[in-house]
Amino acid sequence: MGRMSSSAGYRKLSFWLDTVPGTLTPGVRLDGDVDVDVAIAGAGYTGLWTAYYLSRAEPGLRIAVCEREIAGFGASGRNGGWCSALFPASLGKLARMAGRDAAIAMGRAMQETVDEVAAAAAAEGIDCHWAKGGTVMLARSPAQLDRATAEVAEAREFGFGSADLRLLTAAAAGEYAAATGVLGGTYTPHCAAIHPGRLVRGLAEAVRRRGVTVYERTPVTQILPGRLVTPTGTVRARHVIRATEGFTAQLPGERRTVVPVYSLMIATEPLPESAWAQIGLADRPTFGDLRHLIIYGQRTQDGRFAFGGRGAPYHLGSAIRPSFDRAPAVFTALRQTLAELFPALADAAVTHAWGGPIGVPRDWCASVGLDRSTGVGWAGGYVGDGVATTNLAGRTLADLVLGSDSGITRLPWVGHRSPRWEAEPLRWLGVNAGLQVMSWADRQEARTGRASRAAEFVGRYLGN
Ligand SMILES: Cc1cc2nc3c(=O)[nH]c(=O)nc-3n(C[C@H](O)[C@H](O)[C@H](O)COP(=O)(O)OP(=O)(O)OC[C@H]3O[C@@H](n4cnc5c(N)ncnc54)[C@H](O)[C@@H]3O)c2cc1C
Repeated sequence: MGRMSSSAGYRKLSFWLDTVPGTLTPGVRLDGDVDVDVAIAGAGYTGLWTAYYLSRAEPGLRIAVCEREIAGFGASGRNGGWCSALFPASLGKLARMAGRDAAIAMGRAMQETVDEVAAAAAAEGIDCHWAKGGTVMLARSPAQLDRATAEVAEAREFGFGSADLRLLTAAAAGEYAAATGVLGGTYTPHCAAIHPGRLVRGLAEAVRRRGVTVYERTPVTQILPGRLVTPTGTVRARHVIRATEGFTAQLPGERRTVVPVYSLMIATEPLPESAWAQIGLADRPTFGDLRHLIIYGQRTQDGRFAFGGRGAPYHLGSAIRPSFDRAPAVFTALRQTLAELFPALADAAVTHAWGGPIGVPRDWCASVGLDRSTGVGWAGGYVGDGVATTNLAGRTLADLVLGSDSGITRLPWVGHRSPRWEAEPLRWLGVNAGLQVMSWADRQEARTGRASRAAEFVGRYLGN
């Protein structure tokens, strides 16, 4: 990755890293063996929030983070900036896993986590362009409207009222986001739009100020009980934490833990007020619609539309390459979808296009945990919902490492073990067939307005 490893190269990774203040020049590399109390692999939100809460709780603790590139290189520096209470496993699924009360506790903990991100960022002086405008999800076909109704009904079953999620009429949805063909939608206040690059780079600075060492350009080749092995030295520690998310499959023994699925984004030039007057999103709510193959957008603080979606192919053997971040066909499709939703954007210039891997566990349920006997901990498998969830993971790992109990260590995702993915080529066939069926089902639904049974089937196969 030599060609990329300069500040200018890293800026090309996303609109966010391109517009983050300060330099992206890598910091010190590990040089020789060191002894610390906690060693963390990966400087995305998971690794950095873990270091942050550990150092806050015990300022004397010696903490080292080893990052292969620079802090924020992964999904944390490239995402859609929805700091939301979404958790990848539904309430119904969590209830089946751990019971109704546990599912409700998880939902409430996620809602509190959104505000905790704001509080921690404010405490550390990180201006991440926070705007808690909620999320509006548009329904643009009868099938999507049915899904909106079902989602609200599920929330009600678990005691989440209209202050948490409500159904919108076509007119009310249109007031949030004046897209074409809107039949209705849902609205939740539990989401903020943020500049994700500012958050991750600000966090790296915050932990450094607190005495944490963040080694950059330091790849971990092995995570073992008591140590992280790198080509330039070993970090020995009582506790070691894996925070490598979409890149996890590259570590020995972890090939089938999570599958890297690519999510891709585009950002437009800053749009004039006249365009925003037609589009809406006045309080910067994050926005999507209820198609199967997820799309997501936000109005950035500087007046751009940042818009993304899944649909890029999965690569055999969970391969990850810089070229996979850019799939021209997906960028074109995103551009078209945006213009179809908001015709006012048809001529807007796209200034940035990028992508990155998210980590998908076999059962689509994120998890966090610490093996007491080995001292090895982990967190990840957030699918596309990691911006807030990583904060809860960091607080949980800090509690587990320190043996403190603030209640969150009893949430149902703690200690959960997702099954492993199938071996290749079954994994490749399964994941790509799933992606194909989802996009076929969306086209079908757009044409007929009726729900696709095939997509429901795949949803069940994926365990949702
Ligand atoms: C395009 C896109 C859009 C998204 N949109 C949203 C959204 O709007 N809302 C939301 O909630 N989530 C979203 N996500 C998901 C979210 O960004 C992630 O869940 C979250 O950032 C995960 O944080 P992390 O720290 O666990 O992983 P990452 O940020 O990926 O960090 C992992 C780090 O580990 C490093 N690393 C990996 N392997 C090694 C190794 N062997 N040695 C040393 N270092 C290593 C990597 O370089 C990387 O910096 C999106 C993701 C993408 C890609």
